[in-house]
Amino acid sequence: MAKFTTVLIPADHYFVPSTEAIAAAKLLMEKYFPDRGDEVQSCIWEKPAFVDGCDSLEILICPACGETVDRFELEENEDGETWWHHFEEKLGESDDPIATKITMPCCDQEVVAGNIRFPYDAGFARFKLWLPDPGDSMAVTDKQLAKLEQTLGCKLIHIGRVWS
Ligand SMILES: [Zn+2]
Repeated sequence: MAKFTTVLIPADHYFVPSTEAIAAAKLLMEKYFPDRGDEVQSCIWEKPAFVDGCDSLEILICPACGETVDRFELEENEDGETWWHHFEEKLGESDDPIATKITMPCCDQEVVAGNIRFPYDAGFARFKLWLPDPGDSMAVTDKQLAKLEQTLGCKLIHIGRVWS
C-alpha cells in the first residue's frame, strides 16, 4: 500500500527557521491534521538537500533549454534505469547536492542541480517539516499554508509525498 506524507520546505534553499518557530509550526500541523497516524517531524541539514515527493514528482524544467522533462517518459537503458535514477544517484553521492553538475537528458547540456526548476512536489532545502500518515488528505489549505509561512517566517513549498 502506498505511504503518504505531507512535507513542507522553505522556498528559499538556505533558509532555516528558529527553534521556537519550528515548535510553533509543529503545533499548528497537529491542529490541522487531527486524524494523523504519526508525529510531526523536522530536520535541518548543513547544506541544502533534495526533497521530493517520490511518486508524485512528475516534471522538471531544464535551465539550459527550457524544456519540460517528464520523469516518467524518460528512456530506459538495458537495466531499466533512466536519467532520473542517475540524477538521484549523483545527488545521493554528493556532499553538496545543490551544486552537483548534471548533464540534462533533453539537450545534453551540463547544468547545476540547484538551477533545475521543479514547479511542484520537489525542491532543495536546508529545513524540512513533515508528517507521515497525515490522515484523509495530505493537503493544507491556502489559509493554513499562509499561517505556517507566517509562523516559520518564510514562503513554503508543499510536497505531497507518495511512496509505493
Ligand atoms: Zn535541456
